Formats: sequence, C-alpha cells, structure tokens
Amino acid sequence: MALVPFDDRDGWIWWNGSLVPWRDARPHVLSHGLHYASAVFEGERAYNGHIFRLRDHTERLIASAGMLGFALPWDAEAIDAASRQVLAANGLTDGYVRPIAWLGSEVLGVSPHGASANLAIAAWAWPSYYGADRMQGIRVGEAVWKRPSPETAPTAAKCTSLYTIGSLSKRKAEDEGYSDALMLDWRGLVAETTGANIFFVIDGALHTPTPEGFLDGITRRSVMALARRHQMTVIERQIQADEIGLASEVLLAGTAAEVTAVREIGPHRYTPGRITDTLMRGYDALVRETPAEVARALA
Ligand code: PMP
Repeated sequence: MALVPFDDRDGWIWWNGSLVPWRDARPHVLSHGLHYASAVFEGERAYNGHIFRLRDHTERLIASAGMLGFALPWDAEAIDAASRQVLAANGLTDGYVRPIAWLGSEVLGVSPHGASANLAIAAWAWPSYYGADRMQGIRVGEAVWKRPSPETAPTAAKCTSLYTIGSLSKRKAEDEGYSDALMLDWRGLVAETTGANIFFVIDGALHTPTPEGFLDGITRRSVMALARRHQMTVIERQIQADEIGLASEVLLAGTAAEVTAVREIGPHRYTPGRITDTLMRGYDALVRETPAEVARALA
C-alpha cells in the first residue's frame, strides 16, 4: 500500500494555541529549528481514547526544550489538553501523537537569541511499528554510528539533532535487510536501537543498559515496573558489546515499537520466550487501562 505523504492528508493540527487544517501547518523555510536543529519532540500512543502516560511525555517535552535552552509558552496542563484535543479533532481513539517544538524564523544564525518557541501537535493512525514481526522477533543489524557522550550532545533530550545518528543507522540497517540497528555508545557499551530501548534475558534475569548517553524511555520504565510486578529480576547496568551473545531472549521497548521481540542481532540468534511473551502481553494490557489504573499499576 502506497503511503500518503504527510503533507497530503486532511485533519487538524494544533498549532501554537489553536487547531489549523492539516495542510496549512507549514513553518517558514527560514526557521531556526530547520537550519540549526533547535527542535524537540515527543512520540506518544493513544489507546482506547487515552494517551498512555501523557503527563510523562509532556514533562519530557518541556525538559527537552529546557536542555536546548528554550521555554515553551504553555504549561504541562495546557499541552496535555492540546494533545487530547488534537486526538479527538482527528476522530481517533487509538493512534500516534506527535508534539514538536521548534525555534522560529525571527532570526537565522547559530545564535538562537530572539527566536520564538513554537509548538505543534499532530495525531494519526499508526498500527504496529514492526507489523507481524513484533511477536516473531525482528532482525537487528549492528550500527556503525555511535551514541555520543553526554559531554558531546544533550543526550537526555529528545531533540531532532540526535536523530541524525539514528536515521543514518536505520537507513543502513534497512538497506541490508534488517528492521533496525543496535547502537553502541561512545565507549562501545550497548545503548539502544534507533528508536527504542533494549532488554536482554541473561540467566533468567532481565538486563538493560543504564541510560547514560541515550533516552531513558517511558516504555522502558513501564517494562521494568511490569517485570518487577511479575517477580522478575531486573538489572540495570553497563552492558558490554560482547555480552549480547549471552542472552537467550532480547526485546525492545518504545512508544512506537511497544514491546517487540528480537530474533537476531548480527550473527546472534534468539528465540522469543516466556519473558518476552509475559512483558508483551503485560504491556499490551497496561496501555489499555485508564490513566488512574496505569498510575496505580506503575506506582
Ligand atoms: N530511544 C530512542 C532513540 C527513541 O526514539 C525512543 C522513542 N521515543 C526511545 C528510546 C523510547 O522512548 P519511549 O519509550 O519514551 O518512547
């Protein structure tokens, strides 16, 4: 099925305070955000009419902007309300929500001083990121690009500039027939894939890298809480690249990816098993609960 280009769709986009027709949501080409990557965003999923962990995403958006040195002229309450409004305006109960904040076109130079902060929020239907492979396990290649040190980039921010690394890695992985790429960090330790965090089952326990140079995903934290509720041992630690061969099961966690099994990383093979199955089912059930139930489950 041919994909309809994103600028050739109908619907509504929340744009600096009001809903505008989808086709009219165009920033100027001389926007600071486009030239100097002064832009931060979120990826959220709605299930049964509720955006899963909306406040956590909104707070991360505000924090990401702060790490890039700009403040959004809306508070978390207003951004949450706008996110719900845009979901409803597009007639969606299940779908993906994409807020993006960027510096505008008042100035155009490396200095961001004088550029205004803008915020837009779109929502569209987006089924499973990896399709049917989510249960069987996807094939993951090994990225050449590395996650940079927190001294090199604001690695805790979900900022567009960091996605250059992911985008280059994902392109290469797909060109080689893989679904995604495993990225190491600047030290050669295991980091994440291009759009999700990673977990390894080693000797029956769930191991995941400490988020020292990559996004501490909201799904990652939900999966860790779920695992503990199922009496699994969860170990957050630095993971060496040569340990990926020790795992029996490997899984990814991210808003778009949800919980996805991995059956291959480069030369290594895995068989999705009981732990992956439990976490996948647990996550699929959790996201469909009401926000109050989700908060209770993760407390
Ligand atoms: N790492 C990267 C690079 C991502 O893009 C994402 C998706 N936002 C994640 C991890 C997972 O984060 P979350 O679970 O909050 O979606």
